[in-house]
Amino acid sequence: MGVCAICHRTDVRYSVEHVIPEALGGCYVRKQMVCVDCNSKLGARVDAALVNHDLSKMFRLVHGLGGKAKKPPNPFAGEYRLRSDPDRKMRIRIGPGGRLTPYFLTETGQKNLPDGRVGVTISVDRADEHKVEPIVRTIAKRLGGSAEEALGTMQKTVTSSEGGLTGELTLDLRNFKIGLLKIAYEFAVDRIPDYVESGDAKQIATILREARFDEVERYVIGNGFDRGVMAPLSNFLGYEGVKHYLVLSSGGEGVRCFVHLDGLFSIGATLSTRVFGSLFEIGVNDVESRRFKVWGIEDMPVSTSYRPLLSFETEREAKAFREAERAKDFAYDSGGGGWKLFARDGRYIGMDIEDVVKTLAPIRSEIASGGMREEFCLGEGIYLRVSGSGEIVRVLAVRAEHVWKKL
Ligand SMILES: [Zn+2]
Repeated sequence: MGVCAICHRTDVRYSVEHVIPEALGGCYVRKQMVCVDCNSKLGARVDAALVNHDLSKMFRLVHGLGGKAKKPPNPFAGEYRLRSDPDRKMRIRIGPGGRLTPYFLTETGQKNLPDGRVGVTISVDRADEHKVEPIVRTIAKRLGGSAEEALGTMQKTVTSSEGGLTGELTLDLRNFKIGLLKIAYEFAVDRIPDYVESGDAKQIATILREARFDEVERYVIGNGFDRGVMAPLSNFLGYEGVKHYLVLSSGGEGVRCFVHLDGLFSIGATLSTRVFGSLFEIGVNDVESRRFKVWGIEDMPVSTSYRPLLSFETEREAKAFREAERAKDFAYDSGGGGWKLFARDGRYIGMDIEDVVKTLAPIRSEIASGGMREEFCLGEGIYLRVSGSGEIVRVLAVRAEHVWKKL
């Protein structure tokens, strides 16, 4: 029977859980992970702290991600003032296509003039110019004056907002991290079968369920803004396009997960100090194509190149071959599976290098920078044929260099 990853109750009704919030372009969804109750609690406090961070709001604005309200929030909500005239109050509005537009608030003021008349100032945004006349009429009526006279003597000045606005932007430096911890935790629950029942998992679940912001710090690595925490993963992550990355590792040090939300946050999380077997997986959430996919180290896309270890009868033969090998157009005969393999008599044995390597266990294998290096022993009587000359040369082993294509 399943268990809710947050309250650990069984016998619950599940709700669709977005591991990475939908409002941030998340499309990693689990249907049997979090119960209805916990889902709404997480949404209201844990996810909210992350998706309503001002930086997240900017991300949502740029990528047109509304969330439940369908309309992206305004990261510049609130009141601003004109830098050149701090008495002028303004707002920043989001226009069509997410364009940010400064907007003057409508304000009126009046003062008594020495000749007994009343001077009135009305400030409006250019978009609201049509509102001036009704405002004048309302004020004139209230003051018992003539609206026509006021409109006739009205003077107009234009203020530009080009000099910039000043206002406050308050950045949360702490609470958003709980939303990142949730993502890391749920990725581990999803990928490591027994993790959810562990003591560490239960403690983290409690922190998430009760939104204990101050306890998150014990589990996270980095301040949340520093992409440096992702540096050890530079062989794997390409950062092309708009992608969120989740990198989960389990081994001798326990369980760790790194979360990188494109252009926003990067954080590591220590999810357990217990060992749950060996695992290394990368989840890639492509915001543009709306896809989420998990890659294991074995199924990471690689480009492989081979180098043959050749055998020659004599030193002279070897030297002559090395010479020929330097020619610009030097190549071995190959088919769809790489080099074709031949017998001593020059007969094609019907197999290519990639077919053979698949059936062999490497005699040596090591992690190299950016990929993996393996050596395969090919056995007796296997030859390569040089294109053009048709010369055959005995090959004892091959070295395969696998370079990971960055995700
Ligand atoms: Zn629950």
